Amino acid sequence: MKIHTARRAFAVAAISAVSFAFLADAAPASAAEEVNIYSYREPQLIKPLLDAFTEETGIQTNAVYIEKGLVARMEAEGENSPADVILTVDIGRLDEAEQAGVTQSIDDETINSNIPAEFRDPDGNWFALTTRGRVVYASRERVEQDSITYEELADPKWKGKICIRSGQHSYNIGLFASMVAHLGEEKAEEWLAGVRDNLARKPNGNDRAQAKGIYSGECDIGIGNTYYVGRMMTNEKEPEQQDWAKAIKVLFPNNDDRGTHVNVSGMAMAKNAPNRESALKLMQFLSSEEAQQVYAEQVYEYPVKPGVAPSDLVASWGEIKPDSLSLSEIAEKRKVASELVDKVGFDNGPAS
Ligand code: FE
Repeated sequence: MKIHTARRAFAVAAISAVSFAFLADAAPASAAEEVNIYSYREPQLIKPLLDAFTEETGIQTNAVYIEKGLVARMEAEGENSPADVILTVDIGRLDEAEQAGVTQSIDDETINSNIPAEFRDPDGNWFALTTRGRVVYASRERVEQDSITYEELADPKWKGKICIRSGQHSYNIGLFASMVAHLGEEKAEEWLAGVRDNLARKPNGNDRAQAKGIYSGECDIGIGNTYYVGRMMTNEKEPEQQDWAKAIKVLFPNNDDRGTHVNVSGMAMAKNAPNRESALKLMQFLSSEEAQQVYAEQVYEYPVKPGVAPSDLVASWGEIKPDSLSLSEIAEKRKVASELVDKVGFDNGPAS
């Protein structure tokens, strides 16, 4: 009998110990929640957003910045990939991730109500967080006109005056894909060859380098994304960029007809997300009004959540009328656009 009681007591103690261990494990588990982010976006851009998320939810974020080969890395990691979400720019990259099968479909009420359907993949594999216009940077000193069209960039009056980054960069491929969609392949090729012959130099550098080229007098017209103008204007670390930005004015091409080409930044849930629930919370947060305001005020992009305004600085350039061409159509025409860039030798600069 004695033995039995002792055994019983031991058993109870053991059970308690187990439950305590479980509780001890379970309680801080919420504090140890985390989300692993594979990001094509520069860390400094997303940090304010991730900090705000952690403050609000207590969920830690681990962002890995990947400049190239994000999808290939996830394919190689397969089921063991630690990635929960992908944060990236450009419809091309979102589409690439979906096509490669490294994303999963989500259908969430909060996200669906924050993000309009046109900015969500119909299959739920990604959604957009912001938009950006691919605009004309025009010299304040040397360009008088205050409106322009993409078509006009092929007009010989701009000969030797246009600067642009590589035609194969995804930002330009998105724009050229929209031209293929609007003009048809043949006309788009003619247009692209015309732009090539108006180049002041071989395509090089990033978007900011084109503003710098205008500042230095090398070119009168540059092609670049809207948010870089805001980031140059407010750049405390490299104040010379403020001079580049001051040398240009922003023209929204085709604002009087079909509208300006816009692309997106966005996110996707990784196929094998190990922290799916926390990842979903991050997705909901980034689509929220609070986060959309940070995108507007600190990144100088256009929020996609209706009712959230762009920053005053961005608004001061005028209102953008986004081309209503669907993102899926742009994605579809990217391959042709890329082939045309090679075919006309765009990156070799002017042929005549
Ligand atoms: Fe960019």
